[in-house]
Amino acid sequence: MYEVIRIPAFKDNYIWLLRKGAAAAVVDPGDARPVLELLARERLSLSSILITHHHADHQGGVAGLLAYYPAEVFGPAAESIAGISKPLRDGDRVQIACCDVDFQVIAVPGHTLGHIAYYGAGCLFCGDTLFGGGCGRLFEGSPEQMADSLARLAVLPDDTVVYCAHEYTQENLRFALAVEPGNGRLQSRAREVARARARACSTVPSTIGIEKASNPFLRCSEPEVAAAARRRVPAAADEVAVFAALREWKNTF
Ligand code: ZN
Ligand code: FE
Repeated sequence: MYEVIRIPAFKDNYIWLLRKGAAAAVVDPGDARPVLELLARERLSLSSILITHHHADHQGGVAGLLAYYPAEVFGPAAESIAGISKPLRDGDRVQIACCDVDFQVIAVPGHTLGHIAYYGAGCLFCGDTLFGGGCGRLFEGSPEQMADSLARLAVLPDDTVVYCAHEYTQENLRFALAVEPGNGRLQSRAREVARARARACSTVPSTIGIEKASNPFLRCSEPEVAAAARRRVPAAADEVAVFAALREWKNTF
């Protein structure tokens, strides 16, 4: 089994490095520099790069890494990203032999249209789709697509470890508490997260079970969540409409 190492980048991005022995793979390297530094310091060799979507903060470091390591580059076939050698579609499998892992590709359109997630060995690398306590903005897809994508992630086992690409949890939970103030699991998560952030600790990864208990975007069928959405958008009849109302509300929260 591989070890997952968190590499902070930019203001609040996380690049995830998978390591087994001297071999490494990296997920969403928006910046090459901190990855190259870690690889050199730990004497690791980079074999594989996995990309979730085309935004620069997730793939801007690919060229810089390829200049030093002849890595294979996996990414969504449906997006135009320079350097991809292994384009992927929903249901494809990705074997990272050096790290002894086999990922399943899950198409999760919404934040972008071609966005994919990688699921394997109890871990989910979901880019900007599912965040701690929240979800990505709808830059390209419809609320329907994003609600559907989140539903595909929510059916993964509760103990699935969720590695998202940004440290947004505390801000997201502030919104979650406005939506669902009576949720005890959410209240205790918010307290834990506040303590972690006060010590400058990361709140990522979480798990699917934690997200299902406290992330309003995975809780659109809960009466309290639906009622809060309908106070903003009275016509929000079904779960997708509740999701759309929450996503809109969060944009200006
Ligand atoms: Zn993004
Ligand atoms: Fe991002």
